[in-house]
Amino acid sequence: SHYRRIRQILKEQPLGQAVEIKGWIRTRRDSKGFSFLEVNDGSCVANIQVIAEENLPRYQEDILRLTTGCSVRISGQLAASPAKGQDVELKAAEVEVYGWADPETYPLQKKRHSFEFLREIGHLRPRTNSLGAVARVRSALSFAVHRFFQEQGFQYIHTPIITTSDCEGAGEMFTVTTLDLNNVPRKEGRTDFSEDFFGRQASLTVSGQLEAEIYCLALGNVYTFGPTFRAENSNTSRHLAEFWMVEPEMAFCDLAQDMEVAESFIKYLVQYVLEHCPEEIELFNNFVDKGLKGRLAAVLEQDFARITYTEAIERLTTCGKKFNFPVSWGADLQSEHERYLCEEVFKRPLIVSDYPKAIKPFYMRVNDDDTTVAAMDILVPGIGEIIGGSQREERYDQLLGRLEEQGLSREDYGWYLDLRRYGTAPHAGFGLGFERLIQFVSGMANIREVIPFPRTPGSASL
Ligand code: ATP
Ligand code: MG
Ligand code: MG
Ligand code: MG
Repeated sequence: SHYRRIRQILKEQPLGQAVEIKGWIRTRRDSKGFSFLEVNDGSCVANIQVIAEENLPRYQEDILRLTTGCSVRISGQLAASPAKGQDVELKAAEVEVYGWADPETYPLQKKRHSFEFLREIGHLRPRTNSLGAVARVRSALSFAVHRFFQEQGFQYIHTPIITTSDCEGAGEMFTVTTLDLNNVPRKEGRTDFSEDFFGRQASLTVSGQLEAEIYCLALGNVYTFGPTFRAENSNTSRHLAEFWMVEPEMAFCDLAQDMEVAESFIKYLVQYVLEHCPEEIELFNNFVDKGLKGRLAAVLEQDFARITYTEAIERLTTCGKKFNFPVSWGADLQSEHERYLCEEVFKRPLIVSDYPKAIKPFYMRVNDDDTTVAAMDILVPGIGEIIGGSQREERYDQLLGRLEEQGLSREDYGWYLDLRRYGTAPHAGFGLGFERLIQFVSGMANIREVIPFPRTPGSASL
């Protein structure tokens, strides 16, 4: 017989054909003369129902001992199912057990477990319905990210993980070093061998943007999609120490075009997941967040709202609502402010632009008012900031002035200044936090549920 994934069998329904499945037992129920097995192989949300009759070989010895988590190979014939809620069932001819899962110790049982509990068993949690669904959605959306940009002729650039440039200048970097001083390359005449492996302090990247700009000003439109690292000493439901970021960088592009691309990118990804992962979305909507489908539909129906930072501050200071963090022009928006604006005022995704230059990094283009920069954040209901972007400062003198203002050394950014010295061009880009996107499309409240192995303060094991 023919081995097939359960997803394929349920879709094609090859009635009367001999098929073989391999997967893990979800439940077993016994009736007089036969047992029902629910089997899942990780290819989809749905289980396939298997009927195993008592005249099968090893029925007493094996089949009646099957419990949640056991791995099996089952061959048989696909039949139409009389049961409600399923079209087909597999009438087993042979059941082979690969691995048992002792119910006395196996932590996953038929009941629902809390996400907090599942975090403690990171090696087993992808076997649950909800975390398995998250993993499939993550995979599908990774592909969609590449498809969106590749369809539009963007080149995918691999920017370095280990770097000596501090993109955000926020001091959130993890430094990279070696403990084995014998491994440090020794320069002639140098006696201090404690110097770093790289000859100067190197760190894990907080963003691939600066390096992406190099390729943008050579190839035109480019994007990066890779891991980034931030020593965020805060325990929130939206921050990780290691997360994945998608960063397009576009040549001959201004802030308005940057916002257009970002908005159509989010819409594309939402459309993609609705089309390619409908069962996963259904599951999230039923068991994680009842408002999910409505919110995703709303993303596609309407244009994103747009306001400037100055207007946002006006709204926040006149709305009469008490916030934990005070609001005033010049202070960065906190997540409570961001969420209030898009959940209660606009009730849809919102783009906020033109932030004060004092709270933004040196590379953002200064506006004509000389107090704000051509920056934009996209805020979504339930999360707050999901994208941060800007038009970059392409004018040499202005950039140099900004570096000096922020106390950054001209030598460290020599190559970055060169991009403005030779054939400079207006360009813009943004960074999408991939985990925040997965939170948005799954309704997962905590970012620890949407990455396979979350790294947070105090936690870097499984
Ligand atoms: P926040 O204000 O939420 O701390 P940020 O403004 O510091 O975010 P950016 O430097 O603009 O973040 O990074 C671009 C995007 O990367 C953010 O919009 C967000 O989606 C995501 N991001 C930033 N920091 C983290 C983090 N620690 N964990 C997960 N995603 C993050
Ligand atoms: Mg931050
Ligand atoms: Mg921010
Ligand atoms: Mg930001």
